[in-house]
Amino acid sequence: MRILESAPEIGEIGAGIQCLPNATRVLMSWGLEPRLTPYATSPRLCNMIGWKGNKVSEMDFHEYEKDCGTPFWDFHRANLHMGLLERAVELGAELVVKTKVVNVEYESSADGESEIAIAVCEDGRRFSADLIVGADGINSRCREILLGHEDPPLLTGDLAYRLLLKTEDMVKDPELRSFVEDPQVNYWMGPDAHAGKYHLRTQCSVWEVLMEASELRPPRRKALQHGASRARRYAGRREHINWQR
Ligand SMILES: Cc1cc2nc3c(=O)[nH]c(=O)nc-3n(C[C@H](O)[C@H](O)[C@H](O)COP(=O)(O)OP(=O)(O)OC[C@H]3O[C@@H](n4cnc5c(N)ncnc54)[C@H](O)[C@@H]3O)c2cc1C
Repeated sequence: MRILESAPEIGEIGAGIQCLPNATRVLMSWGLEPRLTPYATSPRLCNMIGWKGNKVSEMDFHEYEKDCGTPFWDFHRANLHMGLLERAVELGAELVVKTKVVNVEYESSADGESEIAIAVCEDGRRFSADLIVGADGINSRCREILLGHEDPPLLTGDLAYRLLLKTEDMVKDPELRSFVEDPQVNYWMGPDAHAGKYHLRTQCSVWEVLMEASELRPPRRKALQHGASRARRYAGRREHINWQR
């Protein structure tokens, strides 16, 4: 197996990522448990909190884990990426960086009995394979090749900001200390925005703020064009926001 990666090198990228039990089941089935547990936080509770500080509900992750059989894990993304990469290499995969795939072509195999796929790269290199898996993210070129037309991501009008705080600074603050000592996931929900926080083993804490930016919202015509599901999601959120007030 060969992994073609457009990035010039593999480095620390992104902030945190929360893996729910369906995802950790897959990670464990790939033999990643011993490699990842040293970096994982297993939060006890997930708290849904109103923007004025009122607790709306909570979910006991540890209780739920007993039903699921696999845990909730929070990581720094770099730890998850490195665990996946090391395991893939251990199983015989070869990583090729600085390799941007721009097209997929098909050719007859040498015996003419079947077809093989060829990943064509920006610099002209060609990698043949029995199977090509496109895992190239939100701006996927592979998706466009498969569909046969451009397929850029849809603008939702939502923005997310993320930041990491040093645990050593948080423990000095009487209001933030408990976030470190008793790791929990918190979501604060407010009008047109929400903020979330979870704790990472690697001495940092992630805060996400998601908000609607009306100037980025697509025109109504486009919303209708892309079907009712987005509109339903939007309406649901509006009701929720009114209830919060
Ligand atoms: C703010 C934020 C918070 C999130 N939090 C969570 C969370 O807590 N839990 C969760 O499960 N999900 C979360 N997600 C979603 C999650 O990050 C994505 O679903 C996931 O990263 C998608 O993985 P992927 O492998 O499809 O794409 P990516 O992670 O984007 O990886 C694609 C890779 O392909 C490479 N690539 C792209 N184009 C080419 C090309 N043409 N040729 C070669 N290589 C190429 C890229 O360099 C990249 O390495 C979050 C997303 C955001 C934005």
